[in-house]
Amino acid sequence: MLKLSQVRKVYEGADTALEVLKGIDLEISQGEALAITGPSGSGKSTLLHIIGTLDRPTTGKVLIDGSDPFGLEERELARFRNQSIGFVFQDHHLLPQYSVIENVLLPALAFPGGGNRLQRAHKLLKRVGLEKRTEHRPSQLSGGERQRAAVARALINNPTLVLCDEPTGSLDSANADSVAEALFELHSDQKAVLIAVTHSQSLADRFQRRCMLEGGLLEERECSKASSTTGAPT
Ligand code: ADP
Ligand code: MG
Repeated sequence: MLKLSQVRKVYEGADTALEVLKGIDLEISQGEALAITGPSGSGKSTLLHIIGTLDRPTTGKVLIDGSDPFGLEERELARFRNQSIGFVFQDHHLLPQYSVIENVLLPALAFPGGGNRLQRAHKLLKRVGLEKRTEHRPSQLSGGERQRAAVARALINNPTLVLCDEPTGSLDSANADSVAEALFELHSDQKAVLIAVTHSQSLADRFQRRCMLEGGLLEERECSKASSTTGAPT
């Protein structure tokens, strides 16, 4: 489903070059959930942006469903990203002037596709416990509710890849739990790959697979028997 081979990323400065990713190999199958942890500045967001086709690797290869997205023309790449990848960022990025339901529907407008999107939006919002908040503005929601709306928005186009960058990073633990719950609920409904970058050990512990990014390299960690994607919140 997703395969990275020797992905390197170098940021060129005026007189220095910063090699953030030094050769990342990663293979993820359909339906898997992976947490990536690592120190601040280790390149987690950079890696997630490359997987999400928002940024290109300096060298190395990314294959999504067997094809190289970076081989596409800009417009086709935008369409591919819109239809195949859902993003959840640390800050919800909801548009303040639109209601929750409108925000969830926005990605469906960019490249209109098939299916009843309004029905799907309502279904997703119900799944994340926001069925009574569909007409609210983001400012009228709690932090956890906003982030759950962002999770529903990420899934509106039925993506094959769901990428989260510190999805619970600005939340207290109760709200963080509700967002994690929403993510795993929806992940269990879909055949999507879920990848989350997180500082939260309790969130990372709920993932089936865990990797640590340090020194530009990704190292897979052993899963402890005690945890699973359906484990109790801690
Ligand atoms: P993390 O998400 O793990 O905190 P980042 O991927 O955001 O790390 O950043 C990794 C390193 O790359 C940092 O040292 C950061 O300053 C640098 N960096 C990130 N983006 C850019 C950029 N566009 N240009 C130059 N350096 C960057
Ligand atoms: Mg980051």
